[in-house]
Amino acid sequence: MRLTTAGAHRQLTPDAGAKVAVAKSLDDRLEIASAAAYVACTRTLCWSCDANIEVICIYCESGVDADEELTHFTVSNIWSMDDELARQLARWPNFRKGVGPIHGAPYFANHCPHCDTLQEDFLLHEEPSDPFFPNPRSPPSACELTALARPIRLSGACHFAT
Ligand SMILES: [Zn+2]
Repeated sequence: MRLTTAGAHRQLTPDAGAKVAVAKSLDDRLEIASAAAYVACTRTLCWSCDANIEVICIYCESGVDADEELTHFTVSNIWSMDDELARQLARWPNFRKGVGPIHGAPYFANHCPHCDTLQEDFLLHEEPSDPFFPNPRSPPSACELTALARPIRLSGACHFAT
């Protein structure tokens, strides 16, 4: 009996450890990188209180997602970023990590300065009428661009048009 218990214990411990290590490496892996990145800024209506608010997203003229080279893409559902990008985004304090009503997990998103509601990224990126819907050869239309001075690394979902 004691041997069986000890054997089971030995099996459980490395498994649990391996899962933690995998989760951590996924979280730490900032698979998107760009040395030609911008903050794209525009205005939209808060879906909760209807106020006219400024919203931003990350737009990259070029970059890589894992090993794939991409051009003219935006990044939504950012869940992780390097310190350099966090530092450069400090001037947009309404873009910060939060939990919205749709997605359970926290991610970096725009917040309404009037009612503090998180503006879900899918409302800004996914439909052709959305402010950050990508263009194949140019930044999202009607966005003001601010160049990020230094290369950035982050994790999120890349949107690009073909
Ligand atoms: Zn609002």
